[in-house]
Amino acid sequence: MALKALLIDIDGTLVFRGEAITGANRALREAAEAGLAVRLLTNISAKLPHHIASGLHACGIEMAEECIQTAGMACSAYIRRTPDASCHLLVPDAMAALFEGIRRDDAKPDFVIIGDVAERFDYELLNGVFRMLAGGAQLVVPHRNLYWFDGAGPPRLDAGAFILGLEAAAGQAAIVTGKPSAVFFQAALDALEVSADEALVVGDDMLTDIAGADASGLASVLVRTGKGEPARAPDAITAGTELQSIGDLMPYLHSAGLLAR
Ligand SMILES: [Mg+2]
Repeated sequence: MALKALLIDIDGTLVFRGEAITGANRALREAAEAGLAVRLLTNISAKLPHHIASGLHACGIEMAEECIQTAGMACSAYIRRTPDASCHLLVPDAMAALFEGIRRDDAKPDFVIIGDVAERFDYELLNGVFRMLAGGAQLVVPHRNLYWFDGAGPPRLDAGAFILGLEAAAGQAAIVTGKPSAVFFQAALDALEVSADEALVVGDDMLTDIAGADASGLASVLVRTGKGEPARAPDAITAGTELQSIGDLMPYLHSAGLLAR
């Protein structure tokens, strides 16, 4: 079956450390020319799609905000499925806006949501969340990424590192609404009205992009930019194809005969 859609990761795949990856813009343009639908899937929860679109624009990449799907959006949609649910929000301001109209309870909530609050993670805050979870609240997180790159310099701890500790202490597994959750990928397929065998995931992270594609029955391409380090992934996860960067994507799709003629 001919390919109809690309589900592309943003950080490390299209941009890295605040700059566009060489060939990213050309790849997007050629994908559009080849008739491929594109949806950008990101686990970023500190920004709304229009912020992300303007950040991409600043890097020279043009993408409509309607084509961007964030894990934060999936998180709020998940909570809204339970009527009259209450939640304790531990999320950046931009993400909090997605939870408007949902009841807040900072003592005994139904759900605790943890997003990218970076420097706010400290003992008091984590202990407070632990007690809510021990009291019966369900932990829901946009993603459980362990680390990320912020501009130049060494990697920084991400929310997933703290979530692991909370899960172990409270004896519960967090519900993950972003990558690698199958729900997240299915939402993208639904938005583009394509089936799993008509779409290809392109990303730099084995644990979120590639593992998520695997679990959803989607083909995948790992790019070696950003995190692109297969050594960190469990043996069971393998990308269908590995490319040096997204700049090599369209030549690869042509040569592999994956595009409609
Ligand atoms: Mg990435």
